[in-house]
Amino acid sequence: MITEIVTPKELQKVDPVFGQVSFNDHEQIVFCNDKDTGLKAIIGIHNTVLGPALGGTRMWKYANEWEALNDVLRLSRGMTYKSAISGLNLGGGKAVIIADAKVDKTPEMIKKFAEYVHSLSGKYITAEDVGTTTPDMDMIRDITPYVTGISEARGGSGNPSPVTAYGVYMGMKAAAKYKFGSEKLDGKKVLVQGIGHVGETLVDFLTKEGALVQITDINENRLQEMQSKYGATIFKGADLYAADVDIYAPCALGATINDDTIHKIKAQVIAGAANNQLANEQIHGQILKEKGIAYAPDFLINAGGIINVYGEIVGYGKEEALKRTENIFNTTLEIFSFAEKQGITTHQAALSIAQKRITDRKKENQNT
Ligand code: NAD
Repeated sequence: MITEIVTPKELQKVDPVFGQVSFNDHEQIVFCNDKDTGLKAIIGIHNTVLGPALGGTRMWKYANEWEALNDVLRLSRGMTYKSAISGLNLGGGKAVIIADAKVDKTPEMIKKFAEYVHSLSGKYITAEDVGTTTPDMDMIRDITPYVTGISEARGGSGNPSPVTAYGVYMGMKAAAKYKFGSEKLDGKKVLVQGIGHVGETLVDFLTKEGALVQITDINENRLQEMQSKYGATIFKGADLYAADVDIYAPCALGATINDDTIHKIKAQVIAGAANNQLANEQIHGQILKEKGIAYAPDFLINAGGIINVYGEIVGYGKEEALKRTENIFNTTLEIFSFAEKQGITTHQAALSIAQKRITDRKKENQNT
């Protein structure tokens, strides 16, 4: 989860690690540097109270190392709360490799990264993220057992995106029940921003239920393809944030709910897959609350993917993963109710429930 957007210049005003705005009691940060393969990576281990720190490896051409460090700190913290709120015995971690996946990625680089993961003896378990793929995870598996999201052919759980989409759909239905009095989405106008791996399956669920789906993406070919496949309407308005819809589903980038967009939003429900949707958790979470917009916290409803890969660790299959993901519906309703009773934002409510689980486990661990 993002705490706030900071520019590299602002970052340099504070101490480089412990002083970072995104540094939030992280347990360990590992810098990996290998001249031969060109690997420059950072592994962020935020918290391991509930279990090993699991989170994907993102390969991204960061503008500079500050940006990469900030990203890994934010993302690893987010994983702690995502797993905690989902009832998984996992901590939060994430890794970033500073490289352009299209240009710089080599098998040697991936294998060297796997050696660093292995050196942590299971304290950090990796998985796929932006810029890395299932074949990359298979390659990592040749070096270390501390990897999930490997191919089904090798006994893994395969592509997590459809399960993520199912969880988002469940969270959206719960938010609709809270806001509109019914979980039924037929006839509801839903704008899906980003028709990628998750967005496509979400559109599938929504159109099958009879929702009036509009889609938007920077990839024009993808839009045409999705329109003909699912009968969704391509959004044509000048400003998607001001769209006259009931539900807005951000499934592309983070931080789309920000100072520029928040006052335009007409949707009464926000429920999507993107990580870190609120540019500033406190400020934008509060404004949504004041506007009466039912916001389903991103890290709660997009947890289907991690619930799916968790099966590789504890040994459950797809059916169990889907059952656990379906429970996102109940958890989301609980969060809305708790937030209302406490007079806090849904984001704060979800965070405080996740944090309580970690604090309770820490006490249990200390007493045994
Ligand atoms: P993806 O890369 O497959 O799809 C993203 C889509 O968004 C692409 O079609 C891309 O063209 C589009 N896009 C990019 N910039 C855009 C913009 N400015 N406006 C509109 N569209 C834009 O990614 P995905 O796997 O579908 O994941 C979507 C989001 O959900 C990401 O933020 C990801 O971090 C998050 N997420 C994914 C999973 C998962 O299991 N895949 C799990 C948790 C969270």
